[in-house]
Amino acid sequence: HNIHRARRQGGVQDAPLSYNKRTLMNTLIWFRDDLRTVDHPALEAACSAESSCPQAVFLLTPASWKEHGWGAPRVSYLLKSLQALATELDTLGIPLHVLQLNHHDEAQIRLEELAAELGANEVHAGIEFGVDERRRDQQVADRLHMRGIRFTLHHTQTILPVDEIKTGSGTAYRVFTPFRKAWEKRFDQTRPQPIAPVTNTTQPSTAATRVPTTVEGFDDWKGIDHWPAGTAAGQSRLQHFIDSVVADYSKERDRPDREGTSTLSPWLAVGSISPGMCMAALVERYGPSLEDWPEGPRTWQSELVWREFYRHVMDAFPRVSRDMPMQGWTRNIPWRNAPEDLERWKQGETGIEIVDAAMHQLARTGWMHNRARMIVSMFLTKNLLIDWREGELHFSRNLVDYDFPSNNGGWQWAASTGTDAAPYFRIFNPDTQAQRFDPDGAYRR
Ligand code: FAD
Repeated sequence: HNIHRARRQGGVQDAPLSYNKRTLMNTLIWFRDDLRTVDHPALEAACSAESSCPQAVFLLTPASWKEHGWGAPRVSYLLKSLQALATELDTLGIPLHVLQLNHHDEAQIRLEELAAELGANEVHAGIEFGVDERRRDQQVADRLHMRGIRFTLHHTQTILPVDEIKTGSGTAYRVFTPFRKAWEKRFDQTRPQPIAPVTNTTQPSTAATRVPTTVEGFDDWKGIDHWPAGTAAGQSRLQHFIDSVVADYSKERDRPDREGTSTLSPWLAVGSISPGMCMAALVERYGPSLEDWPEGPRTWQSELVWREFYRHVMDAFPRVSRDMPMQGWTRNIPWRNAPEDLERWKQGETGIEIVDAAMHQLARTGWMHNRARMIVSMFLTKNLLIDWREGELHFSRNLVDYDFPSNNGGWQWAASTGTDAAPYFRIFNPDTQAQRFDPDGAYRR
Protein backbone atom coordinates (compact mmCIF):
# COMPACT_ATOMS: atom_id res chain seq x y z
CA HIS A 1 0.00 0.00 0.00
CA ASN A 2 1.00 3.57 -0.48
CA ILE A 3 2.62 5.47 2.25
CA HIS A 4 2.02 9.03 1.31
CA ARG A 5 4.74 10.88 3.16
CA ALA A 6 3.44 14.18 4.34
CA ARG A 7 6.19 16.54 3.38
CA ARG A 8 4.59 19.73 4.42
CA GLN A 9 6.34 22.69 2.95
CA GLY A 10 5.14 26.23 2.94
CA GLY A 11 1.79 25.07 4.24
CA VAL A 12 1.08 23.04 1.13
CA GLN A 13 1.32 19.29 1.05
CA ASP A 14 2.88 17.49 -1.92
CA ALA A 15 0.40 16.77 -4.65
CA PRO A 16 -1.71 13.75 -3.76
CA LEU A 17 -1.25 10.60 -5.78
CA SER A 18 -2.85 10.80 -9.17
CA TYR A 19 -6.38 9.61 -9.80
CA ASN A 20 -9.09 9.98 -12.35
CA LYS A 21 -10.57 13.38 -11.65
CA ARG A 22 -13.74 12.71 -13.56
CA THR A 23 -14.79 10.11 -11.02
CA LEU A 24 -16.64 11.27 -7.93
CA MET A 25 -14.21 10.71 -5.09
CA ASN A 26 -15.93 9.25 -2.10
CA THR A 27 -13.17 9.32 0.45
CA LEU A 28 -12.96 7.92 3.93
CA ILE A 29 -10.70 9.22 6.71
CA TRP A 30 -9.89 6.66 9.35
CA PHE A 31 -9.03 8.53 12.56
CA ARG A 32 -6.75 6.91 15.12
CA ASP A 33 -4.38 8.79 17.49
CA ASP A 34 -4.90 12.00 15.55
CA LEU A 35 -8.29 13.26 16.71
CA ARG A 36 -8.29 16.74 15.21
CA THR A 37 -9.26 18.56 12.05
CA VAL A 38 -6.30 20.99 12.07
CA ASP A 39 -2.86 19.99 10.76
CA HIS A 40 -4.13 16.64 9.61
CA PRO A 41 -2.55 15.44 6.35
CA ALA A 42 -4.91 12.46 5.99
CA LEU A 43 -7.98 14.64 6.35
CA GLU A 44 -6.50 17.21 4.05
CA ALA A 45 -5.80 14.60 1.37
CA ALA A 46 -9.29 13.16 1.72
CA CYS A 47 -10.89 16.58 1.33
CA SER A 48 -8.66 17.84 -1.46
CA ALA A 49 -9.76 15.35 -4.10
CA GLU A 50 -11.92 17.07 -6.68
CA SER A 51 -15.65 16.56 -6.03
CA SER A 52 -14.64 14.72 -2.92
CA CYS A 53 -17.24 13.56 -0.54
CA PRO A 54 -15.33 12.81 2.66
CA GLN A 55 -16.69 10.78 5.54
CA ALA A 56 -14.85 9.76 8.68
CA VAL A 57 -14.61 6.59 10.70
CA PHE A 58 -13.28 5.61 14.10
CA LEU A 59 -13.00 2.00 15.26
CA LEU A 60 -13.62 1.14 18.89
CA THR A 61 -11.55 -1.97 19.60
CA PRO A 62 -11.76 -2.65 23.35
CA ALA A 63 -10.29 -6.16 23.19
CA SER A 64 -7.19 -4.86 21.44
CA TRP A 65 -6.91 -1.97 23.88
CA LYS A 66 -7.01 -4.49 26.73
CA GLU A 67 -4.40 -6.62 24.99
CA HIS A 68 -2.21 -3.52 24.64
CA GLY A 69 -2.51 -2.68 28.31
CA TRP A 70 -4.76 0.38 28.06
CA GLY A 71 -6.68 1.40 31.13
CA ALA A 72 -9.78 3.40 31.98
CA PRO A 73 -8.00 6.82 32.04
CA ARG A 74 -6.72 6.56 28.48
CA VAL A 75 -10.00 5.12 27.20
CA SER A 76 -12.15 7.72 28.99
CA TYR A 77 -10.03 10.52 27.61
CA LEU A 78 -10.10 9.02 24.16
CA LEU A 79 -13.91 8.89 24.18
CA LYS A 80 -14.16 12.46 25.44
CA SER A 81 -11.75 13.60 22.73
CA LEU A 82 -13.64 11.62 20.12
CA GLN A 83 -16.82 13.43 21.09
CA ALA A 84 -15.02 16.76 20.62
CA LEU A 85 -13.82 15.59 17.21
CA ALA A 86 -17.34 14.53 16.21
CA THR A 87 -18.58 18.04 17.02
CA GLU A 88 -15.80 19.61 14.94
CA LEU A 89 -16.48 17.30 12.02
CA ASP A 90 -20.13 18.07 12.27
CA THR A 91 -19.48 21.75 11.65
CA LEU A 92 -17.52 20.72 8.55
CA GLY A 93 -20.38 18.55 7.34
CA ILE A 94 -18.26 15.40 7.62
CA PRO A 95 -20.16 12.48 9.13
CA LEU A 96 -18.24 10.36 11.63
CA HIS A 97 -19.04 6.65 11.76
CA VAL A 98 -18.09 5.15 15.10
CA LEU A 99 -17.89 1.38 14.63
CA GLN A 100 -17.94 -0.97 17.57
CA LEU A 101 -15.55 -3.86 16.93
CA ASN A 102 -14.02 -6.17 19.38
CA HIS A 103 -10.52 -6.75 18.13
CA HIS A 104 -8.62 -4.71 15.55
CA ASP A 105 -8.20 -7.85 13.43
CA GLU A 106 -11.80 -7.23 12.39
CA ALA A 107 -10.81 -3.85 10.95
CA GLN A 108 -10.24 -5.14 7.45
CA ILE A 109 -13.74 -6.61 7.11
CA ARG A 110 -15.58 -3.73 8.75
CA LEU A 111 -13.72 -1.09 6.74
CA GLU A 112 -14.32 -2.99 3.53
CA GLU A 113 -18.04 -3.14 4.32
CA LEU A 114 -18.22 0.53 5.18
CA ALA A 115 -16.22 1.59 2.13
CA ALA A 116 -18.49 -0.51 -0.07
CA GLU A 117 -21.60 0.93 1.55
CA LEU A 118 -20.38 4.50 1.04
CA GLY A 119 -18.94 3.82 -2.39
CA ALA A 120 -15.56 5.05 -1.20
CA ASN A 121 -12.65 4.76 -3.60
CA GLU A 122 -9.97 5.93 -1.19
CA VAL A 123 -9.23 5.49 2.49
CA HIS A 124 -6.74 7.78 4.24
CA ALA A 125 -5.23 7.27 7.70
CA GLY A 126 -2.29 8.27 9.87
CA ILE A 127 0.74 6.03 10.35
CA GLU A 128 0.98 4.10 13.62
CA PHE A 129 4.28 2.61 14.67
CA GLY A 130 3.58 -0.56 16.68
CA VAL A 131 4.01 -4.00 15.14
CA ASP A 132 0.37 -5.04 15.57
CA GLU A 133 -0.92 -1.80 14.11
CA ARG A 134 1.31 -2.19 11.10
CA ARG A 135 0.19 -5.76 10.54
CA ARG A 136 -3.43 -4.62 10.78
CA ASP A 137 -2.77 -1.85 8.26
CA GLN A 138 -1.19 -4.28 5.82
CA GLN A 139 -4.23 -6.56 6.09
CA VAL A 140 -6.56 -3.61 5.54
CA ALA A 141 -4.55 -2.40 2.56
CA ASP A 142 -4.58 -5.87 0.95
CA ARG A 143 -8.30 -6.30 1.49
CA LEU A 144 -9.21 -2.86 0.16
CA HIS A 145 -6.85 -3.31 -2.76
CA MET A 146 -8.82 -6.37 -3.87
CA ARG A 147 -11.86 -4.11 -4.13
CA GLY A 148 -9.92 -1.47 -6.03
CA ILE A 149 -9.89 0.90 -3.06
CA ARG A 150 -6.71 2.79 -2.41
CA PHE A 151 -5.39 2.91 1.16
CA THR A 152 -2.95 5.73 1.86
CA LEU A 153 -1.04 6.41 5.05
CA HIS A 154 0.16 9.85 6.14
CA HIS A 155 2.38 11.16 8.90
CA THR A 156 -0.15 12.57 11.35
CA GLN A 157 1.70 11.90 14.61
CA THR A 158 5.06 13.55 14.04
CA ILE A 159 6.48 16.84 12.80
CA LEU A 160 8.84 15.08 10.40
CA PRO A 161 8.61 11.65 8.76
CA VAL A 162 10.74 9.95 11.39
CA ASP A 163 11.30 6.79 9.36
CA GLU A 164 13.17 8.88 6.79
CA ILE A 165 15.70 10.30 9.24
CA LYS A 166 18.78 8.13 8.82
CA THR A 167 22.45 8.08 9.75
CA GLY A 168 25.10 8.72 7.07
CA SER A 169 25.19 4.98 6.39
CA GLY A 170 21.42 4.80 5.97
CA THR A 171 20.60 3.11 9.26
CA ALA A 172 18.32 4.17 12.08
CA TYR A 173 19.61 6.19 15.01
CA ARG A 174 20.05 4.51 18.38
CA VAL A 175 21.21 7.58 20.27
CA PHE A 176 19.20 10.73 20.83
CA THR A 177 21.71 13.57 20.31
CA PRO A 178 22.76 12.68 16.75
CA PHE A 179 19.10 11.98 15.94
CA ARG A 180 18.21 15.41 17.22
CA LYS A 181 20.93 17.05 15.10
CA ALA A 182 19.73 15.22 11.97
CA TRP A 183 16.13 16.08 12.85
CA GLU A 184 16.98 19.78 13.18
CA LYS A 185 18.89 19.80 9.93
CA ARG A 186 15.91 18.27 8.17
CA PHE A 187 13.55 20.67 9.90
CA ASP A 188 15.64 23.60 8.69
CA GLN A 189 15.71 22.26 5.14
CA THR A 190 12.01 21.47 4.87
CA ARG A 191 10.42 24.00 7.25
CA PRO A 192 7.20 22.01 7.64
CA GLN A 193 4.19 24.12 8.53
CA PRO A 194 0.98 22.89 10.10
CA ILE A 195 -1.62 22.25 7.46
CA ALA A 196 -4.38 24.84 7.44
CA PRO A 197 -7.74 23.72 8.82
CA VAL A 198 -10.02 22.08 6.32
CA THR A 199 -12.86 24.41 5.38
CA ASN A 200 -16.50 23.44 5.10
CA THR A 201 -17.24 20.70 2.66
CA THR A 202 -20.34 20.93 0.57
CA GLN A 203 -22.01 18.03 2.27
CA PRO A 204 -25.26 18.47 4.09
CA SER A 205 -24.87 17.97 7.80
CA THR A 206 -26.12 14.61 8.99
CA ALA A 207 -27.57 13.55 12.30
CA ALA A 208 -25.11 14.13 15.15
CA THR A 209 -22.74 11.20 15.69
CA ARG A 210 -23.30 9.08 18.72
CA VAL A 211 -20.04 8.58 20.57
CA PRO A 212 -20.44 6.24 23.55
CA THR A 213 -19.29 7.57 26.90
CA THR A 214 -18.11 4.15 28.06
CA VAL A 215 -17.03 0.93 26.41
CA GLU A 216 -17.33 -2.56 27.76
CA GLY A 217 -14.43 -3.73 29.87
CA PHE A 218 -13.35 -0.25 30.98
CA ASP A 219 -14.74 1.38 34.11
CA ASP A 220 -15.78 5.00 34.37
CA TRP A 221 -12.75 6.97 35.41
CA LYS A 222 -13.21 9.55 38.16
CA GLY A 223 -10.18 11.65 37.21
CA ILE A 224 -11.58 12.62 33.82
CA ASP A 225 -12.70 16.04 35.10
CA HIS A 226 -9.05 17.06 35.47
CA TRP A 227 -8.70 16.89 31.73
CA PRO A 228 -10.68 18.99 29.26
CA ALA A 229 -10.66 17.42 25.81
CA GLY A 230 -10.51 18.56 22.23
CA THR A 231 -8.40 20.80 20.05
CA ALA A 232 -9.70 24.13 21.35
CA ALA A 233 -8.91 23.22 24.97
CA GLY A 234 -5.45 21.96 23.93
CA GLN A 235 -4.76 25.10 21.94
CA SER A 236 -5.65 27.34 24.84
CA ARG A 237 -3.36 25.36 27.15
CA LEU A 238 -0.62 25.59 24.55
CA GLN A 239 -1.12 29.35 24.30
CA HIS A 240 -0.96 29.73 28.07
CA PHE A 241 2.23 27.69 28.16
CA ILE A 242 3.88 29.76 25.41
CA ASP A 243 2.78 33.04 27.02
CA SER A 244 3.64 32.29 30.63
CA VAL A 245 5.68 29.14 31.20
CA VAL A 246 8.03 28.17 28.38
CA ALA A 247 10.49 31.02 28.96
CA ASP A 248 11.49 29.43 32.27
CA TYR A 249 11.05 25.83 31.14
CA SER A 250 14.71 24.86 31.41
CA LYS A 251 14.83 26.14 35.01
CA GLU A 252 11.47 24.88 36.20
CA ARG A 253 10.82 21.69 34.28
CA ASP A 254 12.34 19.41 36.91
CA ARG A 255 10.26 20.81 39.75
CA PRO A 256 7.21 18.62 40.30
CA ASP A 257 6.00 21.10 42.93
CA ARG A 258 5.59 23.86 40.33
CA GLU A 259 3.83 24.49 37.06
CA GLY A 260 6.98 24.18 34.99
CA THR A 261 5.85 22.02 32.07
CA SER A 262 3.04 22.19 29.55
CA THR A 263 0.90 19.20 30.71
CA LEU A 264 -0.05 18.85 27.05
CA SER A 265 0.76 15.13 26.93
CA PRO A 266 -2.87 13.88 26.99
CA TRP A 267 -3.75 16.07 23.99
CA LEU A 268 -0.64 14.92 22.16
CA ALA A 269 -1.33 11.28 23.01
CA VAL A 270 -4.80 11.27 21.41
CA GLY A 271 -3.63 13.72 18.79
CA SER A 272 -6.19 16.44 19.43
CA ILE A 273 -3.26 18.78 19.07
CA SER A 274 -0.27 17.93 16.89
CA PRO A 275 3.42 18.37 17.70
CA GLY A 276 3.53 20.50 14.54
CA MET A 277 1.12 22.95 16.16
CA CYS A 278 3.42 23.12 19.21
CA MET A 279 6.45 23.74 17.03
CA ALA A 280 4.59 26.39 15.01
CA ALA A 281 3.66 28.22 18.23
CA LEU A 282 7.36 28.32 19.17
CA VAL A 283 8.43 29.54 15.73
CA GLU A 284 5.77 32.24 15.82
CA ARG A 285 6.99 33.47 19.20
CA TYR A 286 10.75 33.05 18.83
CA GLY A 287 11.40 33.25 15.10
CA PRO A 288 12.55 30.74 12.49
CA SER A 289 16.12 30.08 13.67
CA LEU A 290 16.11 27.43 16.40
CA GLU A 291 19.72 28.20 17.26
CA ASP A 292 18.76 31.71 18.33
CA TRP A 293 16.01 30.67 20.71
CA PRO A 294 16.49 31.17 24.45
CA GLU A 295 17.16 28.09 26.54
CA GLY A 296 13.57 27.58 27.72
CA PRO A 297 11.90 27.13 24.32
CA ARG A 298 14.98 25.35 22.99
CA THR A 299 14.76 22.74 25.73
CA TRP A 300 11.02 22.27 25.25
CA GLN A 301 11.53 21.80 21.53
CA SER A 302 14.02 19.04 22.29
CA GLU A 303 11.35 17.24 24.36
CA LEU A 304 9.15 17.23 21.29
CA VAL A 305 12.07 15.65 19.45
CA TRP A 306 12.34 12.95 22.17
CA ARG A 307 8.77 12.08 21.33
CA GLU A 308 9.73 11.75 17.67
CA PHE A 309 12.86 9.78 18.56
CA TYR A 310 10.90 7.09 20.36
CA ARG A 311 8.65 6.73 17.30
CA HIS A 312 11.75 6.48 15.13
CA VAL A 313 13.05 3.70 17.42
CA MET A 314 9.73 1.83 17.39
CA ASP A 315 9.60 2.06 13.63
CA ALA A 316 13.17 0.84 13.12
CA PHE A 317 13.38 -1.80 15.86
CA PRO A 318 10.06 -3.67 15.96
CA ARG A 319 11.28 -5.82 18.85
CA VAL A 320 10.62 -2.97 21.26
CA SER A 321 6.91 -3.35 20.61
CA ARG A 322 7.13 -7.08 21.26
CA ASP A 323 7.95 -6.74 24.94
CA MET A 324 11.65 -7.13 24.24
CA PRO A 325 14.48 -4.97 25.44
CA MET A 326 16.37 -2.98 22.88
CA GLN A 327 19.75 -4.09 24.25
CA GLY A 328 20.04 -7.81 23.57
CA TRP A 329 22.31 -8.56 26.52
CA THR A 330 19.73 -7.31 29.00
CA ARG A 331 17.34 -10.10 28.01
CA ASN A 332 18.99 -12.37 30.54
CA ILE A 333 18.65 -10.13 33.57
CA PRO A 334 17.05 -12.22 36.32
CA TRP A 335 14.54 -9.63 37.54
CA ARG A 336 13.22 -10.17 41.05
CA ASN A 337 9.80 -11.74 41.36
CA ALA A 338 8.49 -9.72 44.30
CA PRO A 339 4.70 -9.31 44.06
CA GLU A 340 4.36 -7.67 47.48
CA ASP A 341 7.00 -5.05 46.76
CA LEU A 342 5.43 -4.42 43.38
CA GLU A 343 2.03 -3.95 44.97
CA ARG A 344 3.37 -1.50 47.53
CA TRP A 345 5.02 0.47 44.76
CA LYS A 346 1.74 0.56 42.83
CA GLN A 347 -0.22 1.68 45.89
CA GLY A 348 2.30 4.37 46.86
CA GLU A 349 3.20 2.58 50.08
CA THR A 350 6.94 2.10 49.74
CA GLY A 351 7.73 4.46 52.60
CA ILE A 352 9.91 6.56 50.27
CA GLU A 353 8.02 9.84 50.29
CA ILE A 354 8.82 11.11 46.81
CA VAL A 355 8.00 7.73 45.24
CA ASP A 356 4.72 7.47 47.14
CA ALA A 357 3.71 11.04 46.30
CA ALA A 358 4.28 10.38 42.62
CA MET A 359 2.28 7.15 42.66
CA HIS A 360 -0.60 8.99 44.37
CA GLN A 361 -0.42 11.72 41.74
CA LEU A 362 -0.76 9.02 39.08
CA ALA A 363 -3.68 7.31 40.82
CA ARG A 364 -5.63 10.52 41.34
CA THR A 365 -4.97 12.51 38.20
CA GLY A 366 -3.82 9.94 35.62
CA TRP A 367 -0.70 12.04 35.09
CA MET A 368 2.73 12.18 36.66
CA HIS A 369 5.45 14.79 36.37
CA ASN A 370 8.38 13.69 34.19
CA ARG A 371 10.96 13.96 36.99
CA ALA A 372 8.70 11.82 39.15
CA ARG A 373 8.29 9.27 36.33
CA MET A 374 12.06 8.98 36.19
CA ILE A 375 12.36 8.59 39.96
CA VAL A 376 9.66 5.91 40.34
CA SER A 377 10.80 3.93 37.30
CA MET A 378 14.41 3.92 38.50
CA PHE A 379 13.24 2.92 41.95
CA LEU A 380 11.21 -0.02 40.64
CA THR A 381 13.91 -1.33 38.34
CA LYS A 382 17.15 -0.43 40.13
CA ASN A 383 16.22 -0.58 43.81
CA LEU A 384 13.45 -3.15 43.85
CA LEU A 385 15.03 -4.94 40.83
CA ILE A 386 11.57 -5.60 39.40
CA ASP A 387 11.10 -6.09 35.66
CA TRP A 388 10.54 -2.80 33.80
CA ARG A 389 7.63 -4.43 31.91
CA GLU A 390 5.65 -4.54 35.17
CA GLY A 391 6.09 -0.79 35.51
CA GLU A 392 5.35 -0.19 31.85
CA LEU A 393 2.04 -2.05 32.22
CA HIS A 394 1.05 -0.26 35.41
CA PHE A 395 1.69 3.08 33.71
CA SER A 396 -0.22 2.14 30.57
CA ARG A 397 -3.23 1.13 32.66
CA ASN A 398 -3.19 4.31 34.73
CA LEU A 399 -1.89 7.14 32.57
CA VAL A 400 -4.33 9.45 30.84
CA ASP A 401 -1.52 10.38 28.44
CA TYR A 402 -0.48 6.79 27.77
CA ASP A 403 1.58 6.76 24.61
CA PHE A 404 3.13 3.45 23.65
CA PRO A 405 6.44 4.68 22.13
CA SER A 406 7.10 7.27 24.88
CA ASN A 407 6.15 4.93 27.72
CA ASN A 408 8.20 2.05 26.37
CA GLY A 409 11.12 4.39 25.67
CA GLY A 410 10.90 5.93 29.15
CA TRP A 411 10.81 2.57 30.91
CA GLN A 412 13.64 1.11 28.87
CA TRP A 413 15.65 4.26 29.51
CA ALA A 414 15.17 3.91 33.28
CA ALA A 415 15.93 0.18 33.31
CA SER A 416 19.01 0.70 31.11
CA THR A 417 17.71 -1.82 28.61
CA GLY A 418 16.85 0.62 25.84
CA THR A 419 18.19 2.82 23.13
CA ASP A 420 20.18 5.67 24.57
CA ALA A 421 19.37 4.33 28.02
CA ALA A 422 20.81 5.51 31.29
CA PRO A 423 24.01 3.49 31.90
CA TYR A 424 23.12 0.48 34.06
CA PHE A 425 25.19 1.74 36.97
CA ARG A 426 23.36 5.07 37.06
CA ILE A 427 20.88 4.94 39.90
CA PHE A 428 18.89 7.89 41.21
CA ASN A 429 18.88 8.20 44.96
CA PRO A 430 15.24 9.11 45.59
CA ASP A 431 16.07 11.09 48.72
CA THR A 432 18.67 13.20 46.95
CA GLN A 433 16.25 13.68 44.06
CA ALA A 434 13.58 14.84 46.52
CA GLN A 435 15.94 17.33 48.15
CA ARG A 436 17.01 18.76 44.80
CA PHE A 437 13.68 18.91 43.02
CA ASP A 438 11.16 19.23 45.84
CA PRO A 439 13.24 21.19 48.35
CA ASP A 440 10.33 22.42 50.46
CA GLY A 441 8.52 19.09 50.42
CA ALA A 442 5.41 20.64 48.86
CA TYR A 443 5.03 17.91 46.25
CA ARG A 444 5.53 15.18 48.82
CA ARG A 445 2.97 16.73 51.14
P1 FAD B 1 6.46 18.78 28.60
O1 FAD B 1 7.70 18.81 29.41
O2 FAD B 1 5.68 20.02 28.49
O3 FAD B 1 6.89 18.27 27.13
C1 FAD B 1 6.06 18.51 25.98
C2 FAD B 1 5.74 17.21 25.28
O4 FAD B 1 6.92 16.59 24.81
C3 FAD B 1 5.07 16.18 26.17
O5 FAD B 1 3.69 16.43 26.29
C4 FAD B 1 5.40 14.90 25.44
O6 FAD B 1 4.52 14.68 24.36
C5 FAD B 1 6.79 15.18 24.90
N1 FAD B 1 7.80 14.67 25.83
C6 FAD B 1 8.33 15.30 26.90
N2 FAD B 1 9.25 14.52 27.51
C7 FAD B 1 9.30 13.38 26.80
C8 FAD B 1 10.06 12.19 26.90
N3 FAD B 1 10.98 12.02 27.87
N4 FAD B 1 9.84 11.21 26.04
C9 FAD B 1 8.92 11.34 25.04
N5 FAD B 1 8.18 12.45 24.88
C10 FAD B 1 8.36 13.45 25.74
N6 FAD B 1 5.03 10.55 27.86
C11 FAD B 1 3.82 10.35 27.29
O7 FAD B 1 3.33 11.22 26.57
N7 FAD B 1 3.15 9.18 27.49
C12 FAD B 1 3.64 8.17 28.26
O8 FAD B 1 3.02 7.11 28.37
C13 FAD B 1 4.90 8.39 28.89
N8 FAD B 1 5.42 7.45 29.73
C14 FAD B 1 6.64 7.68 30.34
C15 FAD B 1 7.18 6.70 31.19
C16 FAD B 1 8.41 6.91 31.82
C17 FAD B 1 8.99 5.84 32.72
C18 FAD B 1 9.11 8.11 31.60
C19 FAD B 1 10.42 8.36 32.28
C20 FAD B 1 8.58 9.09 30.76
C21 FAD B 1 7.36 8.89 30.12
N9 FAD B 1 6.79 9.86 29.26
C22 FAD B 1 5.57 9.62 28.66
C23 FAD B 1 7.53 11.08 28.92
C24 FAD B 1 7.25 12.31 29.82
O9 FAD B 1 7.33 11.96 31.16
C25 FAD B 1 5.89 12.94 29.54
O10 FAD B 1 5.72 13.15 28.17
C26 FAD B 1 5.76 14.30 30.24
O11 FAD B 1 5.90 14.16 31.62
C27 FAD B 1 4.40 14.90 29.93
O12 FAD B 1 4.25 16.12 30.59
P2 FAD B 1 4.17 17.50 29.80
O13 FAD B 1 3.14 17.39 28.73
O14 FAD B 1 3.99 18.56 30.81
O15 FAD B 1 5.60 17.56 29.12
